[in-house]
Amino acid sequence: DKYVYDFSEGNKDLKDLLGGKGANLAEMTNLGLPVPPGFTITTEACKAYLATGREPDGLAGQIEAHLESLERGMGRRLGDPQDPLLVSVRSGAKFSMPGMMETVLNVGLNDRSVVGLSKQAGGNDRFAWDSYRRLIQMFGKTVCEVPGEEFEHALEDAKRAKGTKNDLDLDADDLRGLVDAYKKIFAKHTGREFPQEPREQLDLAIRAVFESWNAERAILYRRQERIPADLGTAVNVVAMVFGNLGPDSGTGVAFTRDPGSGAQGIYGDYLANAQGEDVVAGIRNTVPLQELEQLDKKSYDELLGIMARLEEHYKDLCDIEFTIERGKLWMLQTRVGKRTAAAAFVIAGQLVDEGLIDLDEALHRVNGAQLAQLMFPRFQLDHDFQPVAKGIGASPGAASGKVVFTSARAVELAAEGESVILVRRETNPDDLNGMIAAKGILTSRGGKTSHAAVVARGMGKTCVSGADELEVDVPGKKFTVGGQTVGEGDVVSIDGTTGKVYLGEVPVMPSEVVQYFEGSLDPEHIDNALVRAVHRIMTHADGKRRLAVRTNADTGADAARARRFGAEGIGLCRTEHMFLGDRRELVERLILARTDDEREASLAALLPLQREDFIEIFREMDGLPVTVRLIDPPLHEFLPPLEQLAVNVAVAQERGEDVAKEEALLAAVRRMHEENPMLGLRGVRLGLVIPGLFAMQVRAIAEAAVAVAGSGGSACPEIMVPLVGAVQELETVRAEAEKIIAEVVGDSGVEVLIGTMIEVPRAALTAGQIAEAAQFFSFGTNDLTQMGWGFSRDDVEGAFFWRYLELGIFGISPFESIDRDGVGRLVRIAAEEGRAARPGLKLGVCGEHGGDPDSVHFFHEVGLDYVSCSPFRVPVARLEAGRAVV
Ligand code: ADP
Ligand code: MG
Ligand code: MG
Repeated sequence: DKYVYDFSEGNKDLKDLLGGKGANLAEMTNLGLPVPPGFTITTEACKAYLATGREPDGLAGQIEAHLESLERGMGRRLGDPQDPLLVSVRSGAKFSMPGMMETVLNVGLNDRSVVGLSKQAGGNDRFAWDSYRRLIQMFGKTVCEVPGEEFEHALEDAKRAKGTKNDLDLDADDLRGLVDAYKKIFAKHTGREFPQEPREQLDLAIRAVFESWNAERAILYRRQERIPADLGTAVNVVAMVFGNLGPDSGTGVAFTRDPGSGAQGIYGDYLANAQGEDVVAGIRNTVPLQELEQLDKKSYDELLGIMARLEEHYKDLCDIEFTIERGKLWMLQTRVGKRTAAAAFVIAGQLVDEGLIDLDEALHRVNGAQLAQLMFPRFQLDHDFQPVAKGIGASPGAASGKVVFTSARAVELAAEGESVILVRRETNPDDLNGMIAAKGILTSRGGKTSHAAVVARGMGKTCVSGADELEVDVPGKKFTVGGQTVGEGDVVSIDGTTGKVYLGEVPVMPSEVVQYFEGSLDPEHIDNALVRAVHRIMTHADGKRRLAVRTNADTGADAARARRFGAEGIGLCRTEHMFLGDRRELVERLILARTDDEREASLAALLPLQREDFIEIFREMDGLPVTVRLIDPPLHEFLPPLEQLAVNVAVAQERGEDVAKEEALLAAVRRMHEENPMLGLRGVRLGLVIPGLFAMQVRAIAEAAVAVAGSGGSACPEIMVPLVGAVQELETVRAEAEKIIAEVVGDSGVEVLIGTMIEVPRAALTAGQIAEAAQFFSFGTNDLTQMGWGFSRDDVEGAFFWRYLELGIFGISPFESIDRDGVGRLVRIAAEEGRAARPGLKLGVCGEHGGDPDSVHFFHEVGLDYVSCSPFRVPVARLEAGRAVV
């Protein structure tokens, strides 16, 4: 088996085998860009190592051969005492996992080659000893699990002894002393001397990278990001280039466009006289990349040229890592860069303008989750809120919450239902748990490319980084800013777009994208790149999609808003709430009615109220279909809770009051008590048991439709019977309903359809029969999931879903995203058999899944006519329905 690839042998499409970093290093090499030579050990080798606990046969020999050819090419031997070749050993999985795994620089240095390195660098002892102490530090920490703080403390001690705070003030002697201190730390923790043999260093480092795949934080990150656990990581061995050779050297990171807003320009951080990790770790303050133009114009121009070339080649935003060694530019990494939701839309639009991609591809490049993020509210700052600090808007959103300083505390408070803001000097991979639990992240150090920024953007979590006015005191559980002290539990608000930090809770307002959907921002006439891009891509999605998008709405106001958001009808109008509030009294009378007359009287009182409700909704949806579901929940939901009622009755009796009415109510509640109400007397069952209830609703709907038609409007009601499991249920309801409709509608021209919800598994399995009696189906996927799995939706999420997710029984809650294999199969069967029995049968879906991106794609595949979702998800469903086509 071939386990090792030279950079010249790979390309960007081999990410499975070479990992993202290796594949892109190969791609850049083949583009002729200045990449230091090296080779990649495949993910297959890693998987074999993890499975058996040892390197697969043949790997050692292949590494040997590639190392020799690297040495030949460089004219130097690994760790040679006179003129050493040094390498970095870098992890790189298929999906980028920023800072999750390990990298070791300067491999090949030892007590002898450190002298040779100094000679190579023209007698630069300082540089050589700095490189050596970095090797011991990184190797100790990542390969041998020496606690990193020990090295940090020794470094602090050395600086203190020198009376400085800056690493750069340490001279060669100081650093040589530090190497001795580091070696002692190493020996103390590992029980052995720091390995002097270069090849042993290399082999141990490679093995450590393999093993880092299963580090706890890597596992947690993969779970959060839904990255499969069995991919393994590749290992890249790369000839070292040095950014720490002096002021004419340095290292940096850059994006080809702003990953926050998508704006074109030069975005990056540069740090002179530094090595790799220094930039990302936020240890020293970086300068904006533009300043490189003054420092080293030649490298700067070359870098801009390369960035343009990469964008053209990848046809997308790229991020890069580079190093300048004495005026010579080297590319160390590139990849298609992560970006915020706003940047994703803006960049997709720009790339279309630049002719690099077409609109179909632009639609591919964005998704519903991003659009949903852009619909988050913003801070409303017209009051007297003054920021107390301004950092970098690293990941957008508006978050308020209680301040916490540790990951553990964040997790604790979040579990109690609190919103928390995790405040740190800088985050590191150990903070991942806290970052997941927090509503927002605030750091006092680090730029747009710091750990906090990159991880938060990936999670879609609000983050302000590098707010350097903040003095963060983690052990003291407080920070100070502008003379004020903020402690754990105090509330702050952070704006991840502007980078501003406020004390207290700032009120929020709708985002620009929501204002656009609401119709109050005209994309043709405002200068807002985001709104224009959203408009353009949404228009394209609408032109492409086959699925119609309706909304779930129970009131005229919801219906109106959903229409502005692009809803093409109502897919689910629940009538339950129409029985609450003032009308509860009427419902109580209906339930308690002892005679037909009493019952009819309360139904007659409800009729005009219901009719008004429907008139309002039909008017708002003028001409668009409105699916009205007949009353569904068990009747006792409309009555007071049993215990409370029993207490009231007892108390009143004690006082000698007249309790006849309350007692009757209590008796009714007792009579109607059910052990499993969700499987009890509800839906069509209720309609068949309480005479006149469905009839009243049907009449109200038909009368409302006729009234709207009579006043110049147009109404298209679709009456939906819930919880049907057998065609006979539907037939019974339908026979009665048709009589009423015929009588009310007369020759008004109004048409009323009658169909059913498919939400009981038996209905799905007998859909062919049911279709004979139904003019449409609407899949009630909430109940279908609940009954298909036998899960009580109200009980399971907190009780054991966490365990199921942990065990991977499902990757996501089946209430959130449709379970394609099981519940989805019921949908598929019902759609096929329903359409076979009644060609052209109208099929839709209502329920949470209608607004879930992945589920929308499934419903498209199955051939439904529409999805219906809550008003705020309507744009998301429109976008995803378009994406399902291209
Ligand atoms: P990560 O995946 O965390 O970004 P990398 O493997 O990219 O880790 O390496 C960490 C840092 O070390 C980066 O800043 C990178 O540019 C730098 N680095 C890696 N290899 C070399 C090398 N051969 N020469 C100089 N710097 C390097
Ligand atoms: Mg790293
Ligand atoms: Mg990197």
